Amino acid sequence: MSNCLFCKIINNEIETDFVYEDDKVVVFEDINPQAPVHILIVPKEHKENIMALKKDEFDIIAHIHKVAVKMAKKYDIYDEGFRLVNNNKEKAGQTVFHIHYHLLGGRVMQWPPG
Ligand code: AMP
Ligand code: ZN
Repeated sequence: MSNCLFCKIINNEIETDFVYEDDKVVVFEDINPQAPVHILIVPKEHKENIMALKKDEFDIIAHIHKVAVKMAKKYDIYDEGFRLVNNNKEKAGQTVFHIHYHLLGGRVMQWPPG
């Protein structure tokens, strides 16, 4: 989508260092980190949120979780634990309307979230 921030990052229209990339996703560090480790796992295909996925399109979500585990190992938060967050729509805190998962770690997390 032409005016989507994450599509621009994926298409290299906004220069961003990818810490991981494969044929389905890119991963980069959040510009406003909320924890010592805060990276975003973003599918290359534009979909506004997980409700926009058709029934046969949910394999990407399993893939994102697989990449999250790989990144937890890379960032050394696999053993101590981490949080994986996906906000859907404004009320949940979504500000970029292209599916993404936050991988957060490196500190004690609170529950319930704000
Ligand atoms: P959400 O609020 O769940 O939609 O998450 C969007 C995230 O994108 C926020 O945590 C922002 O800090 C992050 N963000 C916005 N612009 C950029 C950017 N140019 N590079 C990296 N992260 C960004
Ligand atoms: Zn997009």
